[in-house]
Amino acid sequence: GAKSDGRRTYRFFEAGMDARAKARRSLELELRQAIADGSFELHYQPLLHLEEGQVSCCEALVRWRHPERGTISPADFIPIAEDTGLINDLGHWVLNTACREAMNWPEHVHVAVNVSPIQFKSQTLALNVAAALAATGLAPSRLELEITEAVLIRDDEAALDILHQLRELGVRIALDDFGTGYSSLSYLQRFPFDKIKIDRAFIKDLAGTGASSTIVQAVVNIAAASDMTTTAEGVETEQQRNLLRILGCTEMQGYLFSRPVSSAEIRKLLSSDREKAVSVS
Ligand code: C2E
Ligand code: MG
Ligand code: MG
Ligand code: MG
Repeated sequence: GAKSDGRRTYRFFEAGMDARAKARRSLELELRQAIADGSFELHYQPLLHLEEGQVSCCEALVRWRHPERGTISPADFIPIAEDTGLINDLGHWVLNTACREAMNWPEHVHVAVNVSPIQFKSQTLALNVAAALAATGLAPSRLELEITEAVLIRDDEAALDILHQLRELGVRIALDDFGTGYSSLSYLQRFPFDKIKIDRAFIKDLAGTGASSTIVQAVVNIAAASDMTTTAEGVETEQQRNLLRILGCTEMQGYLFSRPVSSAEIRKLLSSDREKAVSVS
């Protein structure tokens, strides 16, 4: 009857919850171990300056090399790292590794590092960034920290204070995934960003008749008026690239130019990019 079915459904649900909780718990333990073992790797995706046609920056994107599961994407483990606080250790490793790697690149190429809202809240971010710069010798102006709007909505004053501390160090601040989540144009006035990264959601149907190109144009205009640059994320077609150039977007990032690649491959890409630039000029 209905009653026993209900009970069965409930039990099934409970068992499902249990399995999920166990899987998550085991992933958490493996993640802890992976941090101790150093099983992570950074890939780098170039950002191309649309006018100059040269790579201006490379974004560090973390990968987990799992012994059985292969490469695990950050979308699958960053949330667990955030819930467990492990993101602080991982973020520290990412920051130092990315700064060290960038020392092998041409000097005009910046390196972008994603900073989780949890790291941002930890109060030691500016200290960690200063330490990473000192340890690697990277010029502060070559480091771009990518933060999301999530860090801004909670505590305006505290967030503003941290952003100013970072600014004092001479690093650049980029607002990542702009247009998703709790976007507010007022953030752009209130906080000192150097760059706005326009989310792929707006680039995807840029060529269509929808509102995307109007939105991108508006963001580019606001950015220009406040001395900020803009980067289009997830550029996959020539058509998108051409439109972005017309709209006045500063940089593009996406599979059209390059997927994220290993540190050895990014060095190769950057040295051939420099040769091209030299032979053109
Ligand atoms: P994100 O910072 O917005 O990074 C861009 C993501 O878009 C990357 O995914 C990149 O591979 C992907 N992407 C780039 N171009 C294209 C394209 O043309 N088409 C499509 N479909 N996708 C493109 P990935 O590497 O899987 O990273 C996902 C997210 O994980 C990142 O989004 C970032 O929020 C987070 N993440 C990655 N590395 C780190 C890290 O070291 N620390 C923290 N806190 N988060 C990280
Ligand atoms: Mg990013
Ligand atoms: Mg992004
Ligand atoms: Mg994005």
